[in-house]
Amino acid sequence: MFSIGCHLSSSGGYRKMGETALELGATTFQFFTRNPRGGTAKAVDPADAAAFCALAAEHGFGKLVAHAPYTLNPCAADARVREFAFQTMADDLARLEFVPGNYYNFHPGSHVGQGIEIGVAKICEVLNTVLRKDQSTIVLLETMAGKGSEVGGRFEELAAIIDGTVLSEKVGVCLDTCHVNDGGYDIVGDLDGVLEEFDRVIGLSRLKAIHLNDSLNPRGAKDRHARIGEGTIGLEAMARLINHPALADLPFCLETPNELDGYAREIALLKSLRKGE
Ligand code: FE
Ligand code: FE
Ligand code: ZN
Repeated sequence: MFSIGCHLSSSGGYRKMGETALELGATTFQFFTRNPRGGTAKAVDPADAAAFCALAAEHGFGKLVAHAPYTLNPCAADARVREFAFQTMADDLARLEFVPGNYYNFHPGSHVGQGIEIGVAKICEVLNTVLRKDQSTIVLLETMAGKGSEVGGRFEELAAIIDGTVLSEKVGVCLDTCHVNDGGYDIVGDLDGVLEEFDRVIGLSRLKAIHLNDSLNPRGAKDRHARIGEGTIGLEAMARLINHPALADLPFCLETPNELDGYAREIALLKSLRKGE
């Protein structure tokens, strides 16, 4: 089954997102757990979450990707910023148990000049504090473009975070096609080679979800998402991505610059490029 979806607004609750996804032809989606620029989260309505779970089961939804706010920086130098990361991640994970068994994606963070090694250690400390044996959510480290002092622009950095996490069975990776392209990995010309490198450094069993974005940048420049087929990755490479045997069963989430009608068109386009459905 092809799980394709896009980023949706969470303001109407889970059931509304599920219904919107179906209208767009999607069977998965991503949403922010709270305002992406920070702040407190709305309480979860258990009846709304249960209604969504029933809808998702009925329509064969793939796993959802809940996205942490951008202001969550587990390796910040500022103690208050870091405290927000501890509290927000713990609170988000507790609330996600209302829709059990899905994914929680976060940006590993920016080390803001402290260096990769200290950044990785601080990220591990957050994960080792907030992850719980009994949680059903898998936490995903997003592959980053590596702009500024972002941690996670190299597969080795993500592997180091996983290595330093005690409950590493609760940790996976979300591969953002725009970010890895902009980070210098040749997913256009040598997807097999990039996935072999991922497997060698991190292990393909850790790869749980794909952010499917085209890029406005040539490979090696930094993090500007483009619509599918309108960027430097291009439609042929997109078709290879969604059909690659190592990726085909993962949820694909569009984070392309679009309104809902544009997402619906991209979902239809990608379904037409998917082989054997
Ligand atoms: Fe992201
Ligand atoms: Fe992304
Ligand atoms: Zn991005």
